[in-house]
Amino acid sequence: MRVLYPGSFDPLTFGHLDLIQRANALFGTIVVAVLANPSKQPSFSLEKRIEQISESTSHIGNIEIISFDGLTVNCARESKADLILRGLRALSDFEYELQIAHTNRSLDGEFETIFLATEARHSFLSSSVVKEVARFGGETSHMVPEIVAKDLKRLFNE
Ligand code: ADP
Repeated sequence: MRVLYPGSFDPLTFGHLDLIQRANALFGTIVVAVLANPSKQPSFSLEKRIEQISESTSHIGNIEIISFDGLTVNCARESKADLILRGLRALSDFEYELQIAHTNRSLDGEFETIFLATEARHSFLSSSVVKEVARFGGETSHMVPEIVAKDLKRLFNE
């Protein structure tokens, strides 16, 4: 199976990585689709986010990394995905994720969204929390892959 995992990944955390690894073991090829939408004003450029994901997943087989803009269902069709994957950390994610899943189904009934819950020890992680910690000089090496921890240090030391 081919599973599309769309997101901002600004930056990639161990929560995202855990999901990629678990979905990879369950379903096969994971197409990580990095949102290019510049109106979201990401902290890391698209190229940097792709590099971070590429380096952090180099030990896993069957990973493809693409960028996308626009509707997720169009991206799913173009990348010949069978399923869309999203992650759930806590109940607070559920309402938003359910709304997106229903919207996507209404646009194209072909694509089911599946949800995976991350490992409990990663469930507190979000890209914004990680950036907040790094902004104030906190240690992030237990939250993000090595390349991301380095990039965060560089970003907030500049
Ligand atoms: P978006 O801006 O589309 O929400 P994110 O990069 O923040 O993009 O997240 C992509 C997906 O990964 C979302 O489904 C989100 O719920 C999930 N996710 C993010 N962090 C975690 C985590 N720590 N554990 C499980 N899922 C997560």
